[in-house]
Amino acid sequence: MKWGALLVCALFAFTAHTAFAAQGMSAAGYEKTYGINIPFTPSQRTSRYTFAVYGGETAGGTALVQKELTITEAQTLFLALPYDYAAPETYTLAVTAHPMPGREGMDKAATKTSAFTTAPTCGHTADAGGYLAGDGSEQSPYVVSTQAQLSHLRQHSAACFWQSQDITLSGTWTSIPTFSGSYDGGGHIIYDLQVANSAEGALFQDVTGASFSRLGFVSRGADVGAVYTSGTLGRNLNQCTIDQCFVDVNIYGAPNRGSDVGGFAKALNDTTITNSYSASTLSGNALCAGMSCYLQNGTMNNCYSVSSISGGSAGVGGLITTYNPVNPKVTNSYWLLGPASSPGGGVRITDKALFGQEATFAGWDFENIWTMGTVYADVIGEEITAPVLRAFQQTGARDYSLPQGAEDETAGLGFSE
Ligand SMILES: [Zn+2]
Repeated sequence: MKWGALLVCALFAFTAHTAFAAQGMSAAGYEKTYGINIPFTPSQRTSRYTFAVYGGETAGGTALVQKELTITEAQTLFLALPYDYAAPETYTLAVTAHPMPGREGMDKAATKTSAFTTAPTCGHTADAGGYLAGDGSEQSPYVVSTQAQLSHLRQHSAACFWQSQDITLSGTWTSIPTFSGSYDGGGHIIYDLQVANSAEGALFQDVTGASFSRLGFVSRGADVGAVYTSGTLGRNLNQCTIDQCFVDVNIYGAPNRGSDVGGFAKALNDTTITNSYSASTLSGNALCAGMSCYLQNGTMNNCYSVSSISGGSAGVGGLITTYNPVNPKVTNSYWLLGPASSPGGGVRITDKALFGQEATFAGWDFENIWTMGTVYADVIGEEITAPVLRAFQQTGARDYSLPQGAEDETAGLGFSE
């Protein structure tokens, strides 16, 4: 009598409702890997499985991710899946059990599938801008990829965020009143930020204890607005850090008011700004400077401005204004033409060709942070060669390949079907 082959699928189990998780990758420090947690109980008849995730409600076409694993005991598996962070999406997980070597005649490979839909992780709805990945912690920041999700920061103003793609804003932006979390732009840009006339603030109003990194702002045509007092990030930034950010915007101080305008903020108080630049057109009736009107007890290092600066009846400056400078520390920073001075340090450069030479920027990291590129220098109305940030020289495409190192887990399992 011939033994009938057992379908091994009858003997393993996994949960259909998968929870989304994030695993920080240590190598780059910045790379975030999001994916699914799969509570899984293997069959006693085999330890050999293939996990595959497909877009849509069926397991058809090419798998977005596929992984072969040896599993001997019940556990929750993590499978990297760069799913859509902008809106809920349905995927299908297919798990195939393979017979153990030597049992091919008795057991047969079999597959179970389960469809699941992504859902917000922050307790709010997707329509309200709820985040579809992360928990807001440093290890697992909320992922921001739409205007609604950016605006939703106001609901989680102390959390950690990571922006996954460029975002183009439409309509008039209402400044987020306060923020004390961290925002990693991921080397992406926020386009076309526009606030109401006479606003006090731009993306944010007043920010304390926050950090910003790898975030760019670009105005294409439209201006940020005729603000009363602000810079691109906000009005007063206190005890913050800013690293590897740039602003390429137009901000005009509201007419008929004593407006203060700086590239990044009106005031960077007790704040550290590094490896950042402003290539903007700025105009403030009272104060106007390339980076910030004030840098009170603050530090600026490895920064530059090639901005057009006008107005400023009470004080202007290449990087910060000359008005009431309280203990600003500015090192290895430069501005092109424009105002004759900037307190606390910094060097005015009058020859645009010097901006294209690494030797000008002594102490700057041209291996990891900067590279020479092209920047529109508003102060002279033309493109020049100048340092640009390497963080922004990447593609924005979603990458469905397995994260670096993932293959290592399946190497050497002896899969040879
Ligand atoms: Zn929320």
